Amino acid sequence: MVVAMPELPEVEIVKRELEAKIVGKEINVVRFDTPKMMRPSPSGFVAGVTGKEIKAVRRRAKLLVFELSPLSYFVCHLKLTGRLFFRKPTEVQDNYVHIVFQFQDKTELRFSDSRKFGFCHYLKNEEELLEILAGFGLEPLDDLTPDAFYRILSGTRRKTKVVLMDQKIISGIGNIYANEALWLANINPVRPANELSKEEAGRLFLAIENVIKEALRHGGSSDQWYRHTDGSKGHYQERFKVYGRVGESCLKCGGEIERDKVGGRGTFWCPKCQKQ
Ligand SMILES: [Zn+2]
Repeated sequence: MVVAMPELPEVEIVKRELEAKIVGKEINVVRFDTPKMMRPSPSGFVAGVTGKEIKAVRRRAKLLVFELSPLSYFVCHLKLTGRLFFRKPTEVQDNYVHIVFQFQDKTELRFSDSRKFGFCHYLKNEEELLEILAGFGLEPLDDLTPDAFYRILSGTRRKTKVVLMDQKIISGIGNIYANEALWLANINPVRPANELSKEEAGRLFLAIENVIKEALRHGGSSDQWYRHTDGSKGHYQERFKVYGRVGESCLKCGGEIERDKVGGRGTFWCPKCQKQ
């Protein structure tokens, strides 16, 4: 089965929930059973974070950044199937839990990951953190402007959808939201980026903002693995306009949604609304 990775909205929601739930708590014990998920090493990670307080939770691209006191950091990447649950120890057992942070008040942050591609990485100072964060592209809701977006597109002949998903250029847009934004803006996924007019680029910019904000409003997409930190599902998958709808009717024109692979990823579009 093709697995859709959590994208910006899902990681942002986890960040907001954890911000409300774990800031101010002290990490008492770290338990783990999968050494490769702990960086730079299991012992380095455990020694680095144990006894420290969570001061802040932030997000950069698809990374969760935890600031600790005394000042140091760790980051978590959910990769394909990672989930973070906040629980009391007496609450339900979660499947595939490989790292547990137990706080002083006995509540737990559990990192569940069926495929074990996710990881947590301890960073002893800001310099190390910045090194990890370097190389991510612009944040669509913060740094990206219509002008910057048009300049990015004008500078490359690559397919528009491939550019949208290039994490070095723009952070956090994955396959689901790239498909949805292109449909909303009536732009064909394979059109060379530099052939988009300024007006089309502006439309696509607004469509990106729109799908991300809508996804945030509806709790993210739980099409597959993503869950809220209490284990409940998001609801944006019930609102997909084009993703996963091959053979169904376009909600704008009634035409048939098509599917093909673009840049190795399942791509959905309406041939009438998104002309090549
Ligand atoms: Zn259509």
